[in-house]
Amino acid sequence: MAYQTIILGAGAAGMMCAAHAGPGVLVIDHAKAPGEKIRISGGGRCNFTNMYAAPENFLSQNPHFCKSALSRYTQWDFIDLVAQHGIAYHEKTLGQLFCDSSAKDIIALLLAEMEKVGAELRLRTSVLSVAKTESGFSVEIEQDGTRETLNCANVVIATGGKSIPKMGATGFGYQIARQFGLPLIETRPALVPLTFGEDIMADLKPLAGLSAPARVSCNGTSFEEGLLMTHRGLSGPSILQISSYWREGDAVTVNLAPEMDVKTTLKAKRQENGRRQVSTVLGDLLPARLAQHLAGISGLSGNIADLADTALDHLAATITGWSLKPNGSEGYRTAEVTLGGVNTDALSSKTMQAKDIPGLYFIGEVVDVTGWLGGYNFQWAWSSGWAAGQAIQQRPA
Ligand SMILES: Cc1cc2nc3c(=O)[nH]c(=O)nc-3n(C[C@H](O)[C@H](O)[C@H](O)COP(=O)(O)OP(=O)(O)OC[C@H]3O[C@@H](n4cnc5c(N)ncnc54)[C@H](O)[C@@H]3O)c2cc1C
Repeated sequence: MAYQTIILGAGAAGMMCAAHAGPGVLVIDHAKAPGEKIRISGGGRCNFTNMYAAPENFLSQNPHFCKSALSRYTQWDFIDLVAQHGIAYHEKTLGQLFCDSSAKDIIALLLAEMEKVGAELRLRTSVLSVAKTESGFSVEIEQDGTRETLNCANVVIATGGKSIPKMGATGFGYQIARQFGLPLIETRPALVPLTFGEDIMADLKPLAGLSAPARVSCNGTSFEEGLLMTHRGLSGPSILQISSYWREGDAVTVNLAPEMDVKTTLKAKRQENGRRQVSTVLGDLLPARLAQHLAGISGLSGNIADLADTALDHLAATITGWSLKPNGSEGYRTAEVTLGGVNTDALSSKTMQAKDIPGLYFIGEVVDVTGWLGGYNFQWAWSSGWAAGQAIQQRPA
C-alpha cells in the first residue's frame, strides 16, 4: 500500500497535521482510541489553548524556534475552529480556555476535520520500523497479529513524550530521531508535583489537603498561582509550573502572601490589638491550619504584643520566603509533559521537517518545545501540526 503521508500518533498534533496535510494521509496509533490525552486533559474539559499564548510561555534550548509556527497558526485560529464547530467554551482563569461540556468535543472536532479531507485512521496498530527508501519511506506495522509494509513520501512523528506511560506514552519518537541521526535534548518530567524527604514531609503531612494562593520561585522564575499540600509533597498550578524550572539540588521559595507587605501588616496588627495570639493574627492572613503551622515552625507563641520587631520580621520572612528543597518529583507517572526532546537545531522552524532528511517531520511534544501549564502545550500541538501539514501539502509529490 502506498500513501502520500503517514503520521505516527493520533494525538493532538498528529490529528491536526492530518487535517492539513492534503490527500493520501494515514494516521497510525497503537492506542484503542484517538486523542486519549485530550480526553483526560483539563479535568475532562480540555484547556485547549490560552488567549495570551506567546513564545515567552515555552521552554526550549532555542527559545526562538517556536515563534514561526505560533505566529502562523495562533490561538485565535484554533478558537475560530472551535467556534465553527459550535463548541461552547469559557475562560477559567489567566486566559485559559476550557470546553463548557467535555474534552471529547475537541476529539470530535479533530476527527471531523480529518474526515473532511479523507484522512484514514488505524488504531490498535503497532509501528515496528521506519526506514528510508529511494523515493520516501517504508513503515512496517502490525495490526491484529498481521504485519504489513506501507510506503509513503512523508513520515510525521507525532508520538508525544514519555509522560503517563499508562496512557500509551512510549518515547518512540526519540528512538526514531536517534535512528535518523537527529540530536536529542535530555528529557525530564515537567508540570509535575514535587516530593520531599522525610524531615520536610513531617512538616507538610499535617497540612495535606490545604490549598492557598502563593508565589513560588526557583532559578529566577516565579509563578503566582494556587499551591496545594498533599501527603506526597507539594502540587497545585504554581508548583507544576515551577517544576519545569527546578533542577535536583535547588530549593524552591514559597511566598504565601504575595499580595501583602507582611512585615508592615504584622506590626500594624500588634499596634491595633496586642493581646491576640500570634497564630490568631496569622489566621487573618492565611488559612487557619497553615497559620498555626507557621507559628509553630517559627517557634513563636503568646501574644503578639510580646514580640519584638526582629521576631515579627523573622515571622514575615517565614511567610514570604519559605524555602524548601525537594528531593525529586513524582516523575513521568503523573507529569503532564516531557521537557526536552528532538533538538530543534535539526528541524526547520517553518515546516518541522528534519533539515537533513527530506520528508521526515517531528511535531508536538516530541520536539524540544514545552509550554507552561494553561493550554500552551495544546497550542504548540496545533501550531506545529498545522505548520507541518501546510508544508507537506505544498511539497512537490
Ligand atoms: C493529565 C494531563 C492533562 C493535560 N492537560 C492539558 C491541558 O488541559 N492543556 C494543555 O495544553 N495540555 C495539557 N496536557 C499536555 C498535552 O496533553 C500534551 O502536551 C499533548 O497531548 C501533546 O500532544 P502530542 O500530539 O504531541 O502527543 P500526544 O497527545 O501524547 O499523542 C501521542 C500519540 O502517539 C501515540 N503513540 C505513542 N507511541 C506510539 C507508538 N510507538 N506507536 C503508535 N502510536 C504511538 C499515543 O498513543 C498517542 O495517541 C495534559 C497532559 C496530561 C498527561
